[in-house]
Amino acid sequence: MSWSLPIFRVAGIQLRIHVTFLLLIGWLAVGYYAEGGSAAAAGRVFFILLLFVCVILHEFGHAFAAKAFGINTPDITLLPIGGVARLERMRP
Ligand SMILES: [Zn+2]
Repeated sequence: MSWSLPIFRVAGIQLRIHVTFLLLIGWLAVGYYAEGGSAAAAGRVFFILLLFVCVILHEFGHAFAAKAFGINTPDITLLPIGGVARLERMRP
């Protein structure tokens, strides 16, 4: 997916983060900072990032399930609305 940055690769699956995800985190961080200072901003952003760790694990679940059916997943992209595991094809 264009406008996305490669982060790391696990089992041949590239994890990418879309620029709009980083914009969302930055926008929220600024809002939280204005509301409650740096400690509040750091804590709330950390919580959101932990939620997205769950999203990443969920997407890797899709990718590994697909792999069990012989379908490769070139990459997983994090977007503000969640994650997308891009499977090479769908099972017929
Ligand atoms: Zn899912």
